[in-house]
Amino acid sequence: CGIIGYVGGEDGPDAIDVLLNGLSQLEYRGYDSAGVGLANASLSVHKAEGELSKLRSVLPTESLRGGHTGIGHTRWSTHGPPSNANAHPHTDEDDRVAVVHNGIVENYQALRDELVDAGVSFESETDTEVIPHLIADSLEAGDDPECAFRRAIDRIEGSYAIAAVVDGVDDLFAARNESPLVVGVGDDGHYLASDVPAFIDHTDRVVYVDDGEFVRLSATDYRITDADGTVLEKPVETVDWDA
Ligand code: GLU
Repeated sequence: CGIIGYVGGEDGPDAIDVLLNGLSQLEYRGYDSAGVGLANASLSVHKAEGELSKLRSVLPTESLRGGHTGIGHTRWSTHGPPSNANAHPHTDEDDRVAVVHNGIVENYQALRDELVDAGVSFESETDTEVIPHLIADSLEAGDDPECAFRRAIDRIEGSYAIAAVVDGVDDLFAARNESPLVVGVGDDGHYLASDVPAFIDHTDRVVYVDDGEFVRLSATDYRITDADGTVLEKPVETVDWDA
């Protein structure tokens, strides 16, 4: 029931540390499984049913060192029981894209039927898994990563805070509709989370994302756009988060 994302520069902290710390700050929201997806030399996804300690125990920590782009998730299952397979991130068949999602994809059954008819095989029972497959379809058709992400989001209905990483791409992509999402603007990189405590150890400068908006994060920049792709100038607020 929480998401965290991070893109940092070479001098910033390792993504795996930011993600695990962020997820532990989001534990209060409740969850039944957790996972991380990192875009290092190649895309790597690690997930586990149960508490964060379980996820930590399956991580090949040393090989994750040095990566600066990643996403993390704590799941409160709505579609498919708690299990390793149903934990997020979810990926496409070729592991080109990894996606975390809070909320519900209301039209997932129709999308899943369409994808299965096209020959796609699914690994989970979640509503979420249609998203990486849709993104992969667009990448396959030649769309650039941001366009592929937007096209996939355009096809889904429901409530969501979604973040995605794409193999070979340093940037992170996100979207929001009826699920909280906030960007953190740091000196050493950019953060994304369902709630401020997830990254408050790194920055107190935040930009709240509203329904229907898209986010692209890089180490040095962030861009929030509306459904038409128009760049929005949103206020950067400084939060006082002692609680
Ligand atoms: N609907 C998704 C699932 O069941 C996401 C649940 C959540 O918000 O954690 O996997």
